[in-house]
Amino acid sequence: MVERMRRYRNAKILATLGPASSTPATIEALCRAGADVFRFNFSHGSHEDHRERYQMVRQVEEKLGRPIAVLMDLQGPKLRVDRFEGGKALLKAGQQFRLDMDQTPGTEERAPLLHPEVYSALRTGTELLLDDGKIRLRVESHGPDYAETVVVTGGVLSDRKGLNVPEVVLPISALTEKDRKDLEFGLELGVDWVALSFVQRPEDVAEARKLVQGKAAIISKLEKPAAIDKLNEIIELSDAVMVARGDLGVEAPPETVPILQKRIIGACRHVGKPVVVATQMLESMIQHPAPTRAEASDVATAVYDGTDAVMLSAETAAGAYPVEAVSIMDKIIQRVESDDTYRMIMQAGREAPENTAADAISAAARQVAQTLKAAAVVTFTSSGSTTLRAARERPMVPVVCLTADTRVARRLMLAWGTHCTVTSELTSFGEMVEKACRISLDEEIAKVGERLVITAGVPFGTPGTTNILRIAWVEEFC
Ligand code: PGA
Ligand code: MN
Repeated sequence: MVERMRRYRNAKILATLGPASSTPATIEALCRAGADVFRFNFSHGSHEDHRERYQMVRQVEEKLGRPIAVLMDLQGPKLRVDRFEGGKALLKAGQQFRLDMDQTPGTEERAPLLHPEVYSALRTGTELLLDDGKIRLRVESHGPDYAETVVVTGGVLSDRKGLNVPEVVLPISALTEKDRKDLEFGLELGVDWVALSFVQRPEDVAEARKLVQGKAAIISKLEKPAAIDKLNEIIELSDAVMVARGDLGVEAPPETVPILQKRIIGACRHVGKPVVVATQMLESMIQHPAPTRAEASDVATAVYDGTDAVMLSAETAAGAYPVEAVSIMDKIIQRVESDDTYRMIMQAGREAPENTAADAISAAARQVAQTLKAAAVVTFTSSGSTTLRAARERPMVPVVCLTADTRVARRLMLAWGTHCTVTSELTSFGEMVEKACRISLDEEIAKVGERLVITAGVPFGTPGTTNILRIAWVEEFC
């Protein structure tokens, strides 16, 4: 007997798996606490680690009887320092620090930076930002395979931390050799989403799409100012986007991040594509069992902005309190979503339907559900697109996604308000009502005596045909 886990919130939680969270028991606990999508960060770990993790997630999915999405995050052309003796080194302000091509582990005097293209692009005085800008170095001299720097802002630098060079345009392609190998591996594993890092141009997304060949959905991470300049085109070519605030706040001034966050969420809601707000949401919970007030407020702001999902990185991948972090995120989201102000904001920010049958039906379904105080909007979908259009309406009841395609059910777990269930293809009207009622009852979406607003398309099973809106009572023996 599978359990029926339904969520009492719209915004989804994306949790990164890593050393702190890669046992079946922890993954199950993270799901129960509220994780809807798991992110596998291909900047860390071997293919074997990711394969094991993937199998654990699928076992938990089977046990809990709810679809779980797996998102593979490609490293992209992210520059990183290599490893240190003992895993880290303390850099003090004012000291000299050398970066070079020597693969020997780093010390407090030097570190390996194995990216030759960086050295040739440097100038004297160029600022190098390490670990999301926490540590700053200034270039004093450089050659084709080294840079001598002075530490402007010190701190502890550990293995494989990121490097940004905001002032310099580096001639690097969007998908590295490593990304291509990882992508092939991930697609074979069966990941549901592929995240592209450091997207700069719409062409980067198009190139990835050719390689992905429809085997997974594509989420573009917005973390370069160049991508913001082409925001609408990039969103159009992507299935979703991520506000990757870590690198974005280093590549662009941090004070622009909140504004860009709102702009990106707005642009995604306008076209009805999912958007994820990522990085440092509950950062202090890496070490502490409770968040700061500012962090709670940050998660709340993203939810008030109408984001589809909020993300945890090191909090769940490497922190001391992974389950607590998810659990607190879940509480914050639920609390915000029960606030009248949230409902008013969702209502006021609602996007007008486009001139299509699917949008006309979705807008009507939301309106009918609201007028009748129905328990849910139930969408039958083959591609997932009808469910996304229904979610774009931001109804104040769950959007049930019923599909015959397991991959669609998993992918749609990233979207706002969806409750996804795999069921066989419809063959008749009677079956449509019966299925909607039985599944809603079984999965505790509706109670006997409540109403459902159902959308579907005839002929059944043909994508892009949504043309039916049906109101149904939930009965005991449906
Ligand atoms: P990362 O991406 O954690 O892979 O760097 C997210 C971000 O930059 O915010
Ligand atoms: Mn990043």
